[in-house]
Amino acid sequence: MGSLHENNVYFSSSKVVGEFKPLDPEEFRRQAHQMVDFIADYYKNIENYPVLSQVEPGYLRNRLPETPPYKPEPFDNILRDIQNDIIPGMTHWLSPNFFAFFPATVSSAAFVGEMLCTCFNAVGFNWLASPAATELEMVVMDWLAQLLKLPKSFMFSGSGGGVIQGTTSEAILCALVAARDRALKSLGAAGISKLVAYCSDQTHSTYSKACKLAGIFPCNIRIIPASADSNFALSPVVLRGVIEADVASGLVPLFLCASVGTTSTTAVDPVSQLAKVANEHEVWIHVDAAYGGSACICPEFRHYLDGVERVDSLSLSPHKWLLSYLDCSCLWVKKPDLLVKALNTNPEYLKNKRSELDSVVDYKDWQIGTGKRFKALRLWLIMRSYGVANLQSHIRSDVRMAKMFEGFVKSDPWFEIVVPRTFSLVCFRLNPFKESNPSYVEHLNKKLLDSVNSTGRLYMTHSVAGEVYMLRFAVGATLTEERHVCAAWKLIKESAEALLKRSYYNSV
Ligand SMILES: *Cc1c(COP(=O)(O)O)cnc(C)c1O
Repeated sequence: MGSLHENNVYFSSSKVVGEFKPLDPEEFRRQAHQMVDFIADYYKNIENYPVLSQVEPGYLRNRLPETPPYKPEPFDNILRDIQNDIIPGMTHWLSPNFFAFFPATVSSAAFVGEMLCTCFNAVGFNWLASPAATELEMVVMDWLAQLLKLPKSFMFSGSGGGVIQGTTSEAILCALVAARDRALKSLGAAGISKLVAYCSDQTHSTYSKACKLAGIFPCNIRIIPASADSNFALSPVVLRGVIEADVASGLVPLFLCASVGTTSTTAVDPVSQLAKVANEHEVWIHVDAAYGGSACICPEFRHYLDGVERVDSLSLSPHKWLLSYLDCSCLWVKKPDLLVKALNTNPEYLKNKRSELDSVVDYKDWQIGTGKRFKALRLWLIMRSYGVANLQSHIRSDVRMAKMFEGFVKSDPWFEIVVPRTFSLVCFRLNPFKESNPSYVEHLNKKLLDSVNSTGRLYMTHSVAGEVYMLRFAVGATLTEERHVCAAWKLIKESAEALLKRSYYNSV
């Protein structure tokens, strides 16, 4: 029982706060200006904070009151508490010293686009709910498809189309459900027990989750090992063997998720060859290019999407590497009608002439939820404000900095590259005595990672592929410059020296 009910403070009086206007334009102007200043200062001073938050679990509960206030509080007090209580608990994803996971890239254009999206608060479930929201999304999806040189079959101007989802997870689930329903139409509902889904052991874990959500039997999810010899790409020959064995035992191959840029090491599956195998068995092929796909707007990287004309769907998250803020994940499909057949709803309260005439796109039928934010504004502002030229140079600059870091690693006898670099992720490890046993090297690298991250001066993460523990240095935070990469290397190097010195003396 909180003090709330004892004092009955919430229910004591009906007129304490005066006339309440939650959206007074002048009050909004004042607060929003103040908040913009707060945000600009945060971005300006972001390097002063430890990149990885150093708080302990539960830290915030102790700092905040147990109950919400009954009377309004001044905005200045709230800003003060954001500074004092919230910021210490933030891991600063926008810090130029953030090299963990994949950085989440941002930009002024996307930010103001997001402001506008929030401003309108259009709940664009169908065309009529805000024609501009639907039509702009169709335009930007075709624009981005052109940047990626996708075939017309993925564009509204051709026979396909695209939709902005929240995350890759939703994009894959939607594609999977469309494929499933197409298959069940001829197999009958009981056929679900026969449907088989394929991926490599490097495919993002969200794919197995999507399979589960789509009702694929766990025993029918084939996770095929990808070996270090192929740089962790899925082998078409092995895939063919697995599919043929399934067919021979009476199962029905349904879906293949290929990756262009895996999360662990940015491995690229050979889309064209895999698609050839999958096409023979009418398997739906989805390409997950969440991170790596953005690089394909540059001609020198586009070949990683070769063969995309043979696949059924493709997803790419501009929130990862195309400056767009979370969340923004693009899904293109060749056959929108299959998506719509699987996901459409038609309640009385949403019925309208435009939808009935089938003359419009109703995006509620292309996604999981009904309501839909006007996220296309963000992509539209990004593409218009920067132009393709700047977007390409943004990708190239990150890759150049990653190459530089890779050079540092390669030229240092204590360190080694574990997996060749493809985009702007460097997978490396400390391995000073080449003959050491693997568990010692792993232990050493775990220590190194902890010691570097605990300084708060940078944040990076690790992965394991082919049973090798490695450190991941992912360049791409929007504010990162060469000097940050140089300073990061210096810190890693110094930490390694201190660590080796300590372990040398301890062992003597
Ligand atoms: C990050 C990532 C995902 C997960 O993306 P969400 O948008 O967080 O669902 C999936 N696949 C790959 C290759 C990724 O890098």
